[in-house]
Amino acid sequence: MLQNSPSKPRALRIGLIANRSHQDAPDSALVQLLRGSRDAIAHLQPEWIVVGRTLDAIISHDLLSACGQHQRFPYGREGGLMKLVARVVDSDPLRAVDAVIYLIDPVDPSSVFPEAQALKRQCVIHKKPFLSTLASAREWLDLEAVANGAAANPALNASYALQHEGIALIAHDAMKERMLAMAEKHFALLDQFSHRYATGTTGGLLNQLAQKIKGEQAGRNWVQPFMSGPLGGDAQIAELVLDRKIRRILFLEDPHVARQHEADIQLLERAARTVSNFALVVSETGGADRWLELISKRMALAC
Ligand code: PGA
Repeated sequence: MLQNSPSKPRALRIGLIANRSHQDAPDSALVQLLRGSRDAIAHLQPEWIVVGRTLDAIISHDLLSACGQHQRFPYGREGGLMKLVARVVDSDPLRAVDAVIYLIDPVDPSSVFPEAQALKRQCVIHKKPFLSTLASAREWLDLEAVANGAAANPALNASYALQHEGIALIAHDAMKERMLAMAEKHFALLDQFSHRYATGTTGGLLNQLAQKIKGEQAGRNWVQPFMSGPLGGDAQIAELVLDRKIRRILFLEDPHVARQHEADIQLLERAARTVSNFALVVSETGGADRWLELISKRMALAC
């Protein structure tokens, strides 16, 4: 829960939308999310802002009671997604959303409309979680619920067995110092992953850090560096995501510059969305720090 004033905590406000192919089937990502995270949602009691057709789908699946308090936003074609972007940047605590769950189907053309891209970009800029895969939304709800005193979702325990998990670490130039600070702060946690991967320059810097912490020999290959991002490193990482060898991607991106390899960045995100029930991307710095902290806390409960 967020703290409005010391005496009055307010519920999280979450924007919710799913592309069409994630809505209608009895086992759609939307249904899996609301069913599978029912306990976390019941504990957090968030207020949902739901874009038109997604709310229609929730009602048709008879899942409105699993959501709780909600507000209907217009259909996409009537500007629902655009209005959601405005709520991400809104400074009024009575209107602002704290996080966005947008279950994206990468082959749905509406997922690359300008408003869809702006939604993500403004979440990064305003340091709000942007959860675009089933796995990311499920993990975020679980971690936030646990942080608020709920029991952990046992169905997710296996994904916290980090000794079997791979993670990718990528930072654009303006974010490399933050990546190093974050990796140093959470080194013990990151060290538990079975494999760490990175784009070229980020990887070189992280291995230098690891050598400082673990010693020259032991830290030398702490992460496996691929090509530099602009030379195709994102695509190499994407292949391992598609092969389900990398579940988590920590991507500290710089939203304030034009990126020569924008297509590669999008490719990597689309790879995660292609395996929506498996992979997750964490992009924004404030949320990334909290995410790593909460995973440490959650792991203590997973065993
Ligand atoms: P780099 O690539 O780690 O090689 O700098 C990251 C990027 O800029 O995409």
